Amino acid sequence: MDEYDGLNHHPTYPRAVVPEPWADRVWLAGTERSPQYGGYLEGALDAAIWAVNGLLAQRTLPSQVEPA
Ligand SMILES: Cc1cc2nc3c(=O)[nH]c(=O)nc-3n(C[C@H](O)[C@H](O)[C@H](O)COP(=O)(O)OP(=O)(O)OC[C@H]3O[C@@H](n4cnc5c(N)ncnc54)[C@H](O)[C@@H]3O)c2cc1C
Repeated sequence: MDEYDGLNHHPTYPRAVVPEPWADRVWLAGTERSPQYGGYLEGALDAAIWAVNGLLAQRTLPSQVEPA
């Protein structure tokens, strides 16, 4: 898509891959990260939800920490 054409559809952006050792440490949350709604506000929200869910899934809850 030529950026000067303007948006009249959801563009498909290449899948962004974060290489090791940053793969589970850097979360891309821009609209371009959304597989369905890239280029629009909905894509920014979609990507933000994906990133937050990923971060929360990684979090170790205090109850899950092994006693020393
Ligand atoms: C003129 C125009 C009209 C639009 N109209 C619509 C519409 O009607 N409906 C719709 O759904 N979408 C519309 N869009 C698209 C929508 O605005 C974007 O899809 C959405 O804002 C993307 O959100 P984002 O959080 O991914 O990125 P952004 O909103 O671009 O946020 C990225 C932020 O990162 C900051 N940033 C960038 N680089 C750095 C850096 N190196 N260090 C620190 N900060 C940095 C930027 O300043 C910016 O605040 C429009 C876009 C434009 C330009």
